[in-house]
Amino acid sequence: MGAAEGLRVAVVGGGIGGMAVAAALARRGARVSLHEQADALAEVGAGLQISWNGQQVLRALGAVDPDAPPDEASLSPGTRMIDARSTRAVAFVPPPGPGPTWYMHRADLLLRLTRAAADAGVDLHLGRLVTPGSIAADLIIAADGGQSLWRSMVDGPVDAQFSGQVAWRALVPNATPVPPQPATLAMGARAHMVVYPLRGGRLTNIVAVEERSHWTDEGWRQPGDPAEFRDRFADFRDAFGGLHDRVDEVHRWALHLRPVAGRWVKDNVALLGDAAHPTLPFMAQGACLALEDAWVLAAQVDAAGVAQGLPAYQAARRDRAARVVALARGNAWRFHLGRPWSWGAQAVLSVAGPTLARRLDWVYGYDATA
Ligand SMILES: Cc1cc2nc3c(=O)[nH]c(=O)nc-3n(C[C@H](O)[C@H](O)[C@H](O)COP(=O)(O)OP(=O)(O)OC[C@H]3O[C@@H](n4cnc5c(N)ncnc54)[C@H](O)[C@@H]3O)c2cc1C
Repeated sequence: MGAAEGLRVAVVGGGIGGMAVAAALARRGARVSLHEQADALAEVGAGLQISWNGQQVLRALGAVDPDAPPDEASLSPGTRMIDARSTRAVAFVPPPGPGPTWYMHRADLLLRLTRAAADAGVDLHLGRLVTPGSIAADLIIAADGGQSLWRSMVDGPVDAQFSGQVAWRALVPNATPVPPQPATLAMGARAHMVVYPLRGGRLTNIVAVEERSHWTDEGWRQPGDPAEFRDRFADFRDAFGGLHDRVDEVHRWALHLRPVAGRWVKDNVALLGDAAHPTLPFMAQGACLALEDAWVLAAQVDAAGVAQGLPAYQAARRDRAARVVALARGNAWRFHLGRPWSWGAQAVLSVAGPTLARRLDWVYGYDATA
């Protein structure tokens, strides 16, 4: 019997990280309640790329079949990098060595994790915003996202800085499903756009990122205007055929930055996922890191109890998360150079592309469950 057996655990936040850690601890015998501020686990979000390191946690949690990818995931045959204006191919990055990445709708992934949590006996409470001090348990896990209310209690206050990047995300339905295909990453001046199929090709997922000098609105995720999207990404029209004209609904995220927290744990409270290490999306690793955190936290607490398991969790996770976050930050400028600098960067990518995935094996080939 592990130390998690019978432990009273409260998880704050029912996103990818919160749901995963709730399932992981309940499977080890903890009595877990999960509190999510939203009234429903709605169809929010868009596409996520789940690489092998994240998949390993999903398998270990019983959220997916250990031997076959989920039906609703599209398997990535790699990433095609192109120059947006000329549509010239720059590089092809093959799938990472350990196995192809899955393209999944966030809602599909969350549904699988929610089922795994419910099957393990997690008590789900929706419509509950939980603030520090308002809840008691043997262990409290704050998985409340990039705007965490709990982080300042654990690591002290920190201001979020606008990163200078705004991400636009859209899902476009396809009357005829598109066949499995690589993601396309088109690079332009001060902008880039990534397009890949979702849900068996019945949807096309768009993530388009532009640089801006300032951002005045408070909100982080806002409805965007499709006409403005078409205008701002006009340089990318030729690269994606008629896709721009089929965008009816689009959301914008002003990407904010907070540094990786110095302390992730205090007494019986632990930060997890974006609450501990918000990241720019340019490595597509935020959700995967949250899944890894979830497994490691549950394993450490089960092995050593709360008092020793939480510091062990922080020790096991902080450096890796910080390395991935730093890498994501560095990718923005690589994708956004205007001419003539883009020629140099693209020349480097064309040589490095085929080996890029292999050099990132430490990211994608990491197995938190081993
Ligand atoms: C444009 C973009 C593209 C991305 N693409 C990828 C990708 O391809 N692959 C990938 O791995 N990651 C990707 N990410 C990152 C990924 O979405 C996040 O890193 C991940 O969702 C973080 O999970 P989380 O559980 O930590 O936080 P969240 O998913 O933000 O969940 C936090 C939850 O907590 C709830 N909550 C907040 N405060 C409270 C409170 N006080 N009480 C109760 N509930 C509360 C919220 O309602 C929410 O449900 C992308 C992000 C962006 C912006």
